[in-house]
Amino acid sequence: MQYINNLFTCSVLPTVEDNDTNAAAAPEEREVPQFTKGNFQYNWIGIYIITVPFLFVLLGIYLCVPFSIPIFVWCIFFAVATGMVGVTTGYHRLFSHNAFTAGQAMQWVCAFIGAGAFQGSIKWWARNHRIHHKFTDTYKDPYDARRGFWFSHCGWFIMRMDYQLLGDADVSDLKDNLVIDFQRRYFAVIAAITGIILPLMMAGATTGEWRAAFFWVVWLKIFLVHQFSFFINSLAHMNVFGATQPYADTTTPRDSLICALVTFGEGYHNFHHQFPNDYRNGYKLWQFDMTKYYIAVLKFFGFCDQLHRVPNEVIERTAATQGIKTHEKLLQENIEEAQRLEVPAIQTFTMDDVKKEVEGGRKLIIIDGYVLDLGIPIPVDTGARELGEHLNWMDSHPGGRALLAAYIGKDATAAFNGGVYAHTVGARNYLPEMRVGRLKERRAPSRISPSGLATEVTLGR
Ligand SMILES: [Zn+2]
Ligand SMILES: [Zn+2]
Repeated sequence: MQYINNLFTCSVLPTVEDNDTNAAAAPEEREVPQFTKGNFQYNWIGIYIITVPFLFVLLGIYLCVPFSIPIFVWCIFFAVATGMVGVTTGYHRLFSHNAFTAGQAMQWVCAFIGAGAFQGSIKWWARNHRIHHKFTDTYKDPYDARRGFWFSHCGWFIMRMDYQLLGDADVSDLKDNLVIDFQRRYFAVIAAITGIILPLMMAGATTGEWRAAFFWVVWLKIFLVHQFSFFINSLAHMNVFGATQPYADTTTPRDSLICALVTFGEGYHNFHHQFPNDYRNGYKLWQFDMTKYYIAVLKFFGFCDQLHRVPNEVIERTAATQGIKTHEKLLQENIEEAQRLEVPAIQTFTMDDVKKEVEGGRKLIIIDGYVLDLGIPIPVDTGARELGEHLNWMDSHPGGRALLAAYIGKDATAAFNGGVYAHTVGARNYLPEMRVGRLKERRAPSRISPSGLATEVTLGR
């Protein structure tokens, strides 16, 4: 029964002394519970909490329970109420991060409505969340994103928590709070009232669609709020859907607009991990952070106060520092890619060699000191299969075959660089594909003749 207590009340947590010898080992040396290894214990309460809503949703679909517009509106209404009013505003920004101060009325509302999300008590939730921030991407992190999508999404909830592995965080400020204590003590009753009974009664009584209210306004709503909340621990820590790291790339959290859309603004998670006590997650006015707007409105009406904001200079300095790092990383990646694609010019030619080869039938040309063979077949990828598996530059040259033919056996540097046509960067990058060597001796790039054609370069041995 201990873990049931832990799940709901966070009242008694095992200490290191309570457990086996394995506890003394450093986290990295211990055997970490994993799905694949099956070396974990199930948290059956967590499993029920996650699977029951899902099964009811499936049953509702199987029974073809109608999903009318009024029912849809009620479902969204209660999803926003539990998700935003309860979890993102109350559980997260107020109780976990103290991002603002709230009057008694607001605290009670957050605590009661938040319980209906069926995500445990405030104290349990806030403690896990503070540990997550303190030990992000380590084994001490309850949602450790390094352990994969499913673990950080809901695996941590259905696997019994390994308290020897888990870190700890200070929750002393949550101790003597009547609202938090009351919610913890009567959590199951409050959750049943605000998460099940109230939505059922309100939606059922106003629409007369009791079955639909039961399946969609109660269970679909719980299912959606669960999944969207879990996305913050999973998706918002993954490099998907164009997610970015504008403030720091030292840990996995990312800013994701898609995630923000379904989590009432919590998707700006890279920012949030850098500045967790800011009442905003999307700090720019236009960033879609519903929770931020909601808190601002509540402040206007006097329900909360002291909204903590990180100074703009601090945020911008953080972004600029990370921007430099990102660009340096990108620069290094591009240098390495260019080096990987570089075609070495091993063979050396004199101009006489070139001419001899041309007399023998090869289509050699010189540009920027490199000897190119225009007859070399250039492999193409599958996207250009219709042109054949290889292309021949003599046939593919946009300026025509005749122009190229005129320069065979000659230095076409000046013509290539603007004498005839200032070739594009793309065209320039075809050259290494035809590179067969380098001129042994090379003059400075030839001047462009009055006719606009490059003069022939003659080099001695
Ligand atoms: Zn996170
Ligand atoms: Zn947080």
